[in-house]
Amino acid sequence: MNLHTCMLTENDCYKAGKPLSVRGLMLHSTGAPNTRLSRYVGPNDGLLGMNQYGNHWNQARPAGRQVCVHGFIGKLKDGTIATYQTLPWEMRGWHAGGAANSTHIGVEICEDDLTDAAYFRAVYQEAVELFAYLCKMFDLDPLQDIICHAEGYQQGIASNHGDVLYWFSKQGKTMDDFRRDVRDQMEHPKEDDTMKTYTHTDQMPDWAQDTFYRLIDAGIVKVDDKGEIAVQECSVQPMVYLDRLCGGQIEKLPEAIKVLQTSE
Ligand SMILES: [Zn+2]
Repeated sequence: MNLHTCMLTENDCYKAGKPLSVRGLMLHSTGAPNTRLSRYVGPNDGLLGMNQYGNHWNQARPAGRQVCVHGFIGKLKDGTIATYQTLPWEMRGWHAGGAANSTHIGVEICEDDLTDAAYFRAVYQEAVELFAYLCKMFDLDPLQDIICHAEGYQQGIASNHGDVLYWFSKQGKTMDDFRRDVRDQMEHPKEDDTMKTYTHTDQMPDWAQDTFYRLIDAGIVKVDDKGEIAVQECSVQPMVYLDRLCGGQIEKLPEAIKVLQTSE
């Protein structure tokens, strides 16, 4: 799971700020072919990318509608899959068009044109991990307490939408598969939560490469006999941030601190 936070504080739903006592989780998909998180989540934090149309949901009523969800799953600017939490989990959302708003957390998966199996596998796995995390957090039973929007309609607690069944069925999955995969994830977490390590700068996101070229040139990031580095994914963003703070001269920081210390 690649979980980030960008609360939709300008949305009327967030401003209403009603409490939610979480009794279930509802899975949605967006119903429009756009895999970019920046379509719905903003402002740009550097990872999301720009929404040039200004139509993300961090506004009072997106497209004039009273809508807001607790999270989105889709692509960052660099193409990696991520989850953005967009409402506090225990704040009432506007996602179901029915009574489920008062009981369920609602999460949207950004749809593609429903045909890309690799994209589906990636966002499905991300949703499994997120829902396992939320089931643990709120002591929910994944087999009982997870539904999709279409199932909510069948139960009379959500409006008449077909998500996510029309997409899942095209990709050979059912909601029962999803519920079982969440349960399995809770019992046997997959190894891919372990930290990723970059061995070459070209594996890093574009926005980080220049910083690390200079750190390598300056000998601060070491290169081994095989010509490889070992930089943990979690350290990349703070280093780039620090580099910007230093006016793009992070490699001079150790020298600058020595100078400061001798002048004391
Ligand atoms: Zn929906």
